[in-house]
Amino acid sequence: MLVNEMTEKDCRDLLARSSIGRLGCSQDNQPYVVPIYFAYELDYFYVLSTIGQKIEWMRANPKVCIEIDEIASESEWVSVIVNGHYQELPEPQYADERAHARKLLEKRYLWWQNALGERQVKSGEELITPTFFRIRIGSMTGLRAIAEGR
Ligand SMILES: Cc1cc2nc3c(=O)[nH]c(=O)nc-3n(C[C@H](O)[C@H](O)[C@H](O)COP(=O)(O)OP(=O)(O)OC[C@H]3O[C@@H](n4cnc5c(N)ncnc54)[C@H](O)[C@@H]3O)c2cc1C
Repeated sequence: MLVNEMTEKDCRDLLARSSIGRLGCSQDNQPYVVPIYFAYELDYFYVLSTIGQKIEWMRANPKVCIEIDEIASESEWVSVIVNGHYQELPEPQYADERAHARKLLEKRYLWWQNALGERQVKSGEELITPTFFRIRIGSMTGLRAIAEGR
């Protein structure tokens, strides 16, 4: 198996065709990683989110990372790690950005169900007020593994 660095263009192409990533945040030297749906555009990931631990932690420490991958087999995969900065999009001051995030996320299949379903089960609430946030990309690296002989 050969592992090579990906170009920035290849990294961004992966982000553009992906919709699930692992979001990492931390507080008091404790990492916390959760799967999330996102929509990527230019230098931002947009996310619809329930309010809970990850939001509280990112408010306290906006330095985050996101890992995205495509795994065809043990020896054929791509993986991109993005370091970025959390920015919440509350109303009314970010109404335009929220509308934009909603538009981007609506293109994705069942984008809202995972974000809201989990919290509804947990709280038993009928109505939930989600929040939107975005991650501004600071840097990224990508690795591509290729099976030898291919
Ligand atoms: C494929 C997929 C896509 C998802 N997309 C979104 C999305 O777009 N937006 C969104 O808000 N959420 C999404 N979720 C749910 C997300 O992973 C979190 O479970 C959820 O957001 C609650 O996170 P929280 O930090 O607010 O946890 P809280 O509700 O505050 O709960 C905190 C506690 O629950 C545990 N916990 C929380 N989430 C998980 C988990 N996923 N697995 C195991 N333990 C957990 C933590 O360890 C912690 O102790 C998605 C989940 C999956 C599997």
